[in-house]
Amino acid sequence: MKRILVNGAGGFIGGHMVKRLKSEGHWVRAADIKRHEFSSLPADEFVQGDLSDQRLMASVVEGIDEIYQFAADMGGAGYIFTGEHDADVMHNSATINLNALHFGQKAGVKKIFYSSSACIYPEYNQLDPLNPKCSEKSAYPAAPDSEYGWEKLFSERLYLSYMRNYGMAVRVARFHNIFGPEGTWTGGKEKAPAAICRKIAEVEGGDEIEIWGDGEQTRSFLFIDECIEGVRRLMESEFTGPVNIGSEEMVSINQLAAMVMEIAGKRLSIRHISGPQGVRGRNSDNHLIAEKLNWKPTRSLRAGLEKTYRWIEEQVAVSRSANLVGNV
Ligand code: NAD
Repeated sequence: MKRILVNGAGGFIGGHMVKRLKSEGHWVRAADIKRHEFSSLPADEFVQGDLSDQRLMASVVEGIDEIYQFAADMGGAGYIFTGEHDADVMHNSATINLNALHFGQKAGVKKIFYSSSACIYPEYNQLDPLNPKCSEKSAYPAAPDSEYGWEKLFSERLYLSYMRNYGMAVRVARFHNIFGPEGTWTGGKEKAPAAICRKIAEVEGGDEIEIWGDGEQTRSFLFIDECIEGVRRLMESEFTGPVNIGSEEMVSINQLAAMVMEIAGKRLSIRHISGPQGVRGRNSDNHLIAEKLNWKPTRSLRAGLEKTYRWIEEQVAVSRSANLVGNV
């Protein structure tokens, strides 16, 4: 049994990781600036506070063997690609990472996981929606299309430098669009799968939903259980990374919407409107993870979407009835 700190535990991936680590019998301290919105976590301790505050970080790393660092200023295209939050995204996330390494190293933490992103990959390799290139070695010459991606790239290098200079065991993964139940589904920070599920679940009398762009931009989406499995395998392996953790089942956003409509049993038309979209095409390249971990994600997008849609449908129904009660 290890003593593990999960930063960002009030969020989507961190919350799921707390549950996984507890099911394996570890002692878990969870930290986040906010409580988890959708789940009561089985953590042994929950510390609520700002991890960009040095004193707080210095206290949460005390007595810890391993850290999972998920805390970040994070959101979907509507949050990170508009440019309106660039300064906060870069400052908050970089400060958290600087603190986690500095105070973690001082406190004798042996191993640390860092959640980087496919957003570090250069835009010039992701212009063709049908043929994006995202192998790990294609990261340089660097040209991410967002400040979020630049911060992730800086932080990857920061983690690797702590490994070289201070001998900390570091593991770095580049996540590609993780989705599933208990993630942000409304409010402006939600990502494409959750936003599309919500829009379709919310349609009552109408016959259309809106999608940003022409919907021909491509992505792959990885179900949360597979992400957690990949991270745990990476942490237990000797491989440092950075390594992609993503699905290779690439679809266009129009195809994603069609799949969700089928699951929902609703035939709706799509109205394409202008909005932030990110790169034109992106897909995970899983050669390296297969080689190093002898494992790669296999679950179909459809299977993950079924679970996610049902969960979001339920959230929509709950929030509708809460509004009705509020209006009485
Ligand atoms: P999330 O937004 O649900 O979780 C991040 C958590 O960090 C939030 O609960 C937030 O409150 C917390 N946080 C932010 N600033 C903080 C601060 N100053 N102090 C304490 N807590 C703070 O996001 P997620 O989807 O769970 O992502 C987890 C990590 O994985 C992030 O680093 C994200 O960049 C990375 N990532 C996620 C995806 C994805 O598709 N979800 C893809 C690539 C990378």
